[in-house]
Amino acid sequence: MRVNDINEHASPLDREQARCLNELVKSLSADQAQWISGYLAGLNAAGAGEAGARVAPSATEKPTITILYGSETGNAERIAEQFRAQAEDRGLNARALDMADYKPRDLKKEQCLVLVTATHGEGDPPDPAEEFHEFLHSRKAPGLAGVPYAVLGLGDSSYEHFCQTGKDFDARLAELGAERLHDRVDCDVDYDEPAAHWTETVLKRLGERFDSGGEPGPNVVAIGSQARTRQPSAFGRDNPFPAEVLDNLKITGRGSNKEIRHIELSLADSGLSFEPGDALSIVARNHDEVIFELLEAVGLEGSEVVPTPRGEQTLEEALRHDYEITTVTPPFLGAYAEFADSDELNRLLEPDNAGRLTEYRWGRHIVDVVRDFSARELDAKRFVTMLRKLQPRDYSIASSYNANPDEVHLTVAAVRYRSHGRERHGVASTYLSDRVEPGETVPVYVQRNKNFKLPADDATPIIMIGPGTGVAPFRAFVEEREHRGADGRNWLFFGEQHFRTDFLYQTDWQRWLRDGILTRMDVAFSRDTENKVYVQHRLLENARDLYAWIQDGAHLYVCGDADRMAPDVHEALTTIIAEQGGMSADKARDYLKSLQREKRYQRDVY
Ligand code: NDP
Repeated sequence: MRVNDINEHASPLDREQARCLNELVKSLSADQAQWISGYLAGLNAAGAGEAGARVAPSATEKPTITILYGSETGNAERIAEQFRAQAEDRGLNARALDMADYKPRDLKKEQCLVLVTATHGEGDPPDPAEEFHEFLHSRKAPGLAGVPYAVLGLGDSSYEHFCQTGKDFDARLAELGAERLHDRVDCDVDYDEPAAHWTETVLKRLGERFDSGGEPGPNVVAIGSQARTRQPSAFGRDNPFPAEVLDNLKITGRGSNKEIRHIELSLADSGLSFEPGDALSIVARNHDEVIFELLEAVGLEGSEVVPTPRGEQTLEEALRHDYEITTVTPPFLGAYAEFADSDELNRLLEPDNAGRLTEYRWGRHIVDVVRDFSARELDAKRFVTMLRKLQPRDYSIASSYNANPDEVHLTVAAVRYRSHGRERHGVASTYLSDRVEPGETVPVYVQRNKNFKLPADDATPIIMIGPGTGVAPFRAFVEEREHRGADGRNWLFFGEQHFRTDFLYQTDWQRWLRDGILTRMDVAFSRDTENKVYVQHRLLENARDLYAWIQDGAHLYVCGDADRMAPDVHEALTTIIAEQGGMSADKARDYLKSLQREKRYQRDVY
């Protein structure tokens, strides 16, 4: 910018301040200068720039939109990043931050808040959002009078506490005086369209309010397709890579109650890479048996043409590749009830019958609903509009990219059970176990998980707690550390039912122990002894050493069952820290929280 230099004698500035300002002004574009003038005017209006005071946006100033995400598997993060990119394309100032990295005391300075959050199974916030959620609901949360905000919830409508964390944030922000810009949207597993629509509408309102015209710039497209144009690798969510199956081995022995498989896929020539802790998304297809049974139950041929995200397809193909045809959700039942004309189903859907509805849904699939309540005049097009889109399934990667760059390994437990008189099969686990042979291909893409990462410093000790298939990422961790020549100590806690049949990757661990890569391993085979022993019992038995490792800076990792194992392990860790550290249970909980905050205690539980 060409302007006359400020003379320190003709201004209230000292020489150094005048020099800095002259230098800054020279480097500014006209837009930047205008923004700064608005910013300073706002500072002035808010009381001569008191530290920490919320700055009222001036007419020319564009406030910063803070987008906070609480991500479970990376979806909330992706939406938040896309929101930020689209805001910037519209000339708005925006920043996207993980709730885990956000300093809650900055809340009182915020000028506009956008929250995108997932919800844990039982209605709790995901781990990275936990502290922010707690702070916001505490008495320490500041008043947010007049701060515009919008909330997007991500969830799964087959869970009772669908999008609960989004609902909590929305209600609490309103209670603190913030001004809802747009009604909260609760997205089900196929979130692309509602999230894109919400993004578009919220940005439009922000554009109008902050005077950017609200019209998208030339680069702006809806979320789904934007992901495609911004995707750095050729293969991703919208364009999965056809990975050839190299191996598919059952790794549980004869007589085991479980069928767990080690699957190796080729990533050769895909350009895909991953880090230990990341997951591989599998784009599975539904089982033919389930498709034909459902077609028969609904009385449709399968040759009818229906819309799908891939364009028009026959109903049979759509049920194979595009729609979820097993899980019964309340929205499906609500839509289906309109065609079923059944008093019993209508009663089940009444708000005071929520408990009975959950009980009815338990262990039942869509085919059971169709058999229990027959529908009249249900045509193929209407039927598919009731179904959710078939979602890819994520599996923790069990190998290190650096050690095997052309391959990716998975540990897959085949889900099979019998309920209400029918055999049931898990969609992706049995697709991988039974329906793809070596030589065939599986569509895949990498799902990053920045909340489950090895320490940057190779000398840092790590403690890995992974019963069952939860051990998968730890095979990747140890393989990576071996490959890097990392000298940090590695301690594994593994649990399964029987030593003889279920010791997953036993030979790998034994080799790593022999070679000194794995420093220690403690195992808990729950059904080999009269009384069950679980990983947390092994943790408690080793309390002193475990605490010493933590004191030495060890990072703790837990992977596997979210419902029972993870809370029990958390409790055991609390006990160990309280006893060994000579502190109260409350202090020990705070200590674990601080480890979580420092990313020294990370969980990947499902
Ligand atoms: P599990 O976690 O079921 O079992 C591993 C070991 O943990 C067993 O020895 C089991 O003992 C033990 N265990 C049971 N309860 C506890 C507890 N409270 N604390 C510590 N250990 C406990 O292993 P899986 O690999 O079969 O399953 C892991 C998770 O993955 C589960 O949440 C399962 O539901 C889920 N899963 C999901 C799949 C999917 O497709 N979505 C596929 C497969 C698994 P015991 O059995 O003797 O009680």
